[in-house]
Amino acid sequence: MFTDNNYNLTNGNIITLNDIVPIANTITVSNNRIESINSPNSRYKSIDLNGLTVLPGLVDSHFHLSNFGKRLEMINLKGLQSIQEVFDVVNEKINEVGPKTFIHGFGWDQTRWNTQEFPTNDILDYFTDNPIILTRIDGHSLWTNKAAINLSTYTDDLISPEGGDIINQCIFIDNAMDAIRAIIPKNSIEETTRWIKTAANKAMTWGITNVHDAWQDPLIFESINNLSESNELPIRCYGMVGASYLELISDMLNNGHYINKNYTVRAVKAFIDGALGSRGAALLEPYSDAPNSCGLTLISHDEFLDIASKCSEANFQLCTHAIGDKGNRMVIDVYSKYFKEDYRWRIEHAQMITYEDMLRCQQFQIVPSMQPSHCTSDMRWMKDRIGEHRTHRISRWKTFADLGLPIPGGSDCPIEDGNPLFEYYAAITRKDHDGFPEGGWHPDEILDRMSALKMFTTWAAYGEFSEKKRGKIEIGFDADFTVLNNDITSCEPEEILHTDVIMTIVGGKIVYSKL
Ligand SMILES: [Zn+2]
Repeated sequence: MFTDNNYNLTNGNIITLNDIVPIANTITVSNNRIESINSPNSRYKSIDLNGLTVLPGLVDSHFHLSNFGKRLEMINLKGLQSIQEVFDVVNEKINEVGPKTFIHGFGWDQTRWNTQEFPTNDILDYFTDNPIILTRIDGHSLWTNKAAINLSTYTDDLISPEGGDIINQCIFIDNAMDAIRAIIPKNSIEETTRWIKTAANKAMTWGITNVHDAWQDPLIFESINNLSESNELPIRCYGMVGASYLELISDMLNNGHYINKNYTVRAVKAFIDGALGSRGAALLEPYSDAPNSCGLTLISHDEFLDIASKCSEANFQLCTHAIGDKGNRMVIDVYSKYFKEDYRWRIEHAQMITYEDMLRCQQFQIVPSMQPSHCTSDMRWMKDRIGEHRTHRISRWKTFADLGLPIPGGSDCPIEDGNPLFEYYAAITRKDHDGFPEGGWHPDEILDRMSALKMFTTWAAYGEFSEKKRGKIEIGFDADFTVLNNDITSCEPEEILHTDVIMTIVGGKIVYSKL
C-alpha cells in the first residue's frame, strides 16, 4: 500500500463541499493536510483516480465502537422473523458451547414477528442450565431466563426499579436491565481493545474516517487512548464520556479537553429516556398501543441539572439521548438554562419532536444529532405505536435543516448496520432497502443530497468543533477523504446501496485501499 505522505490524487470527481471550487479534479496532500486543489505538485507522486468520486472523509456522528466489536462475537438475532427462529439459534449455540456457559445475544425485534408481542417466559426458561441474556435491537430491553434472573439481585416478586419495567417475568426494560446486566461477566481491557480494533477496522472499509463514540466508560477510554498513542487506531474518534462514570467525568472536567493524536474527548453523554420500540421513550401523551403509559424518564431532574451545570462550567459539550417528544422537551428545558454562544450542546436522536420545540432548538442553538436509518427501521410500526396524528413528529431532518441547524448524521451502530451510505440513502429517500414505501415515508422530510452529504461531513465536523479543519476539501484542512466508485450525489438512489468504497484516507494516510 502507498504510504508516502506527499502525493497528488489526480483525475478525480472531487466533491469538495467548499463554495470556491465545488468540483475539483486534483487534490495535493502533504504532511497530512491538503496542500492545494487543482494544481498538482510535480515533485510528488500521483495516484490516478480514473474518474472515481472523492468526498470529504465520512464521519459517523453516533457510533459505539466497543459494542459493535463485541456484537460481532455474540449471537446475532437481527432480522429473525419469529420466536421459533430465535429459539433455534439459541438452542444451536447451547449445543455448541455446553451447559453453564453464559449465552449473550442481541438484535431480536418482536415487531418483526407475527405475534408482535413480547415473548413469554416459557421460551427461554426451557434452557435451565445456561444463563441467557438477549438484548433487543434498540438496546433498551433484555430478554432473559430464570437461570440468569437467579444470579441477579431480583427476588421472586420481580419488582422493577424507578425508570424501568418488567414484562412477562422475562423482559427487562431500561432501568430494570441494570440488575440483570450486573451478572454479565465483566469486560476486560484486552477484550475491549480487541473489540474497538475490530470495529474501527470494519468502519474504515465503509469509508468512515472518524466516529463520535457515544458512551465511553473507563475501559473504553483507556483502550482507545492506548490504541491512539501506539498509532493502532486507523480512524479518528471523538469520545463522549458516559454520565454514569462520575470519577472519569470529574477527572476530565478538571483537566479540560483531552486530545491524544486521533482521539479527542470533550463531551459527556447522558440519557433522558428510552426508545420507542420498547415504549421507553418519554411521550407528552400516552402510547397509542399502551394507553396507560407515557414511557420512562431515566434520570431525575436534579441529576440532569447537576451534569449540565458541571459541563457548562468546564466548557464541555453535553450530548443527551432523547427520543420521545417529552424527552426532547425536557432536554431543551435544561439546555436553555445553560445556553451560551457556541456551546453546541447536542440532542442525540431527537427522533420525535414537536415543531414548537424545534423552534426552541433554533433559539438555543441546540444541535440535533440524527440517525436516518432509525426512521426507516421504525416506520413499519410507528403508526400503531404513536398514532397517525403524531407520526409527522418523527425524524424531521428537513425541518431542522430549514431552520438552519447543522445535523450531525450517524448510524448508532450496532443498533443499525453502520454503513454511512445506508444512512445517506435513508436521509434522501426515507425508504427501506426494498424501496418501500413508494415516494418515501413522510416525504416532506426528505433531504436534498448535498445537505444529506453534509450530515456525514461538514455538519458532523461542526458537531465536534472541527469545522475549521475538517468536513470539507479545502486548502489547509486535514487530508481525510472517502473515495467511491459511484457519484452518490447524482446516481440513482438504489445504486447508492451498491456503491463500493475504493479508498479511505485519514490525515493523508491511506488506511484502506482497493486500488
Ligand atoms: Zn447510541
